[in-house]
Amino acid sequence: MAGLAEVEMRAAGCTLCGLSAGRTTVVFGEGDPHARMMVVGEGPGREEDRQGRPFVGRSGQLLDRLLLEEAGLARSEVYIANVVKCRPPNNRDPLPEEVAACRPYLDQQLGLISPKVVLTLGNFATRSMLSTSEGITRLRGHTYPLGGLAAVVVPTFHPAAALRGGGEVVARMRADFVRARQALGE
Ligand code: URA
Repeated sequence: MAGLAEVEMRAAGCTLCGLSAGRTTVVFGEGDPHARMMVVGEGPGREEDRQGRPFVGRSGQLLDRLLLEEAGLARSEVYIANVVKCRPPNNRDPLPEEVAACRPYLDQQLGLISPKVVLTLGNFATRSMLSTSEGITRLRGHTYPLGGLAAVVVPTFHPAAALRGGGEVVARMRADFVRARQALGE
């Protein structure tokens, strides 16, 4: 089986969907390849597309803070990836065919890293991982088995929603990050 570096190399030249035409860089993901927790977002924004790294903008700063303060984990101790690896134009939601084209990369990351906990950020990542159309407000607050892997999914809001929504959203996210730490058995 290919290692993470090989999968990343393949993704770097990917043209399986239309997003490849508009990207600056493929934002494959980064972090500890043996992480026990994997964080999954939606897709790269402008800054991520420019730098080739996930969650490096304001959302990323909030993510880093919550990871450290509530889950007791530095960014370098988790692995951070997105459902789609290339930036959708004007930050629109990825289309179903774009998600489908990119899914094998996420599945390979999950299989190779084999995390115990997958923390999904927002509606998009949560629905993709749990194959549901239910909304994040109902899904968060619980832990779900991830079919096929010995892992659980802990859904929470996207940090961008917290930046817009303020203290109430952040408070719920804090509770979810604690839940994620507890799911690690710590
Ligand atoms: N939002 C996401 O969902 N992913 C990123 O990498 C950055 C912002």
